[in-house]
Amino acid sequence: MKAVVYNGPRDVRVKDVPDPKIERPTDVLVRITSTNICGSDLYMYEGRTDGDMVCLPFNIGCGFCRNCEAGLTAFCLTTNPDPNMAGAAYGFADMGPYNGGQAEYLRVPYGDFNCLRLPEDAREKQDDYVMVADIFPTAWHATELAGVKPGDSVVIYGAGPVGLMAAYSATLKQASKVMIIDLHPDRLRLGARFLHPSTDRCYEPASQAASISQCILVLLRWFLSGRKGLI
Ligand SMILES: [Zn+2]
Repeated sequence: MKAVVYNGPRDVRVKDVPDPKIERPTDVLVRITSTNICGSDLYMYEGRTDGDMVCLPFNIGCGFCRNCEAGLTAFCLTTNPDPNMAGAAYGFADMGPYNGGQAEYLRVPYGDFNCLRLPEDAREKQDDYVMVADIFPTAWHATELAGVKPGDSVVIYGAGPVGLMAAYSATLKQASKVMIIDLHPDRLRLGARFLHPSTDRCYEPASQAASISQCILVLLRWFLSGRKGLI
């Protein structure tokens, strides 16, 4: 058959090429009667190599299995070749034969499903958008599972990246009181820089925070003492 072939920037020709054929049971063969070019084709034609800016989750879903269709993409039933494992991820032990993302380039399976195309300001704000890959949705989901509603009081143990974003998520959900507790004052100070000013921050020495029950006792004491120890 004849087809338009891209040889490189500003070099596009009609050539004889092999007919396409069915390669997988889900393929169809279409006879083209009318077609168009797209503005995106000009990027290739003019040799501009910048593509879309996208954000990827750390896990890999197919988008069509039972679990993916139910929104449980972390437990995709098709992307991990081990029949005893559900779910796949980039560069993670036992999570499939996929290279990790700490690299210059990455092959993304099911790119249409796994790539979130970002808006025009993506390059300028990539340090913000990268949070959408894991930390922010993980923290947001924690507040979903906890059923945080407007007016709630929320206590978050651990002010690492997920804990801080959980505090931020709770604020977005209009919790009336948000507290973060951690062993590391530097984390609490970081929280003070971007969380809502009303967020309470409580420092606990490691010796006193060995268990959740001890944390709760410390929290009660903190309340009863008029919240001394706030950083
Ligand atoms: Zn799937």
